[in-house]
Amino acid sequence: MIGKEEIKSLTLSIKGKALKLGFDLIGISPIAEFPENQKYKEWLSKGYEGEMYYMARDPEKRADVRITVPSAKSVISCAVNYNTDVPYSMEFEDNKRGWISRYAWGEDYHDVIRGKLKLLLDHINEMLPEGFNHRFYVDTGPVLEKVFAKYSGLGWIGKNTCLINQDIGSWIFVGEIITDLELEYDNSAVDRCGTCTRCLDSCPTNAFPEPYVIDSNRCISYLTIELKGDISPELRDGMGNNIFGCDICQDVCPWNKKAEVKNNKEFIPRDGLINPLLSELLDLDEEEFRNKFKKSPIKRAKRKGFLRNVLIAMGNSGDKDNIPRLKRYLGEEKEPLLKRHAMWAISKISGEDFVE
Ligand code: SF4
Repeated sequence: MIGKEEIKSLTLSIKGKALKLGFDLIGISPIAEFPENQKYKEWLSKGYEGEMYYMARDPEKRADVRITVPSAKSVISCAVNYNTDVPYSMEFEDNKRGWISRYAWGEDYHDVIRGKLKLLLDHINEMLPEGFNHRFYVDTGPVLEKVFAKYSGLGWIGKNTCLINQDIGSWIFVGEIITDLELEYDNSAVDRCGTCTRCLDSCPTNAFPEPYVIDSNRCISYLTIELKGDISPELRDGMGNNIFGCDICQDVCPWNKKAEVKNNKEFIPRDGLINPLLSELLDLDEEEFRNKFKKSPIKRAKRKGFLRNVLIAMGNSGDKDNIPRLKRYLGEEKEPLLKRHAMWAISKISGEDFVE
């Protein structure tokens, strides 16, 4: 048991170190029964997690981190701004090019945040040689991390379900340390969405059945990254030129109009990822795909899933020049998933039913 003054000084030291390590935001919340925990179960009961079965696997664990860290008292939430001075997706209009989500232009954020959290833990360990219990996660464990981030004051969860910070917007990656340390707690962030509905109105696949609720089955990010098989033909038109993730509900958010541009070195866009030429991506073989997207979040979609997305974007481009390239994916011996999407794309461009 440590005294109030020691708790205060430990908290200040942790926060100071986190900022020195390059985190842009840090906040601390207690562990409690938050109303969002129940909402999460309701969300699962509607099947809104789609094929992300890991999200439904341990709902009790997600709702209560004390099942994972029994002695846990506090959650230290940290965030990094990944915004760069590149215009938003709606400002690019070349139909020969696709859109990769802003978050995927730089290094894989899991590695970046994990590295910083480990250094923060080293610092705490130096201060507390007697040790302490903890687990840390970056979008990987059974933790409702946006909920803890909200209650630690990092930002509110907007109607688009993204975490939004009043000063730096929603282009942020979050990670957290769950610990048995007693620390000083921050105030929860206040919801500042007000009467705005821009994100809900602009979603091209109608992925928000109601404010603050996302149906992953219709979300372009889910479709292009998480879903492994065929994308429903009903949703393909709405995907536009999005080939890995989608930024629309964040691009239109007024809080991102004044979002701070940080240009953090890890998230500076790699060559060729901003608004890339669809034709070049469709030509990538397995080895080229691996090399191009090494240490990038894009490797998560795997080449087959990524090319499926590129085929849809080509169909949506209406560009007849693409037809010979699309036809290369037809033929008995070709990968069936890609073949089906290439046939759809050819039909979409030509305006006629296409039968091989
Ligand atoms: Fe909230 Fe409007 Fe931003 Fe949507 S676009 S998250 S409603 S402020």
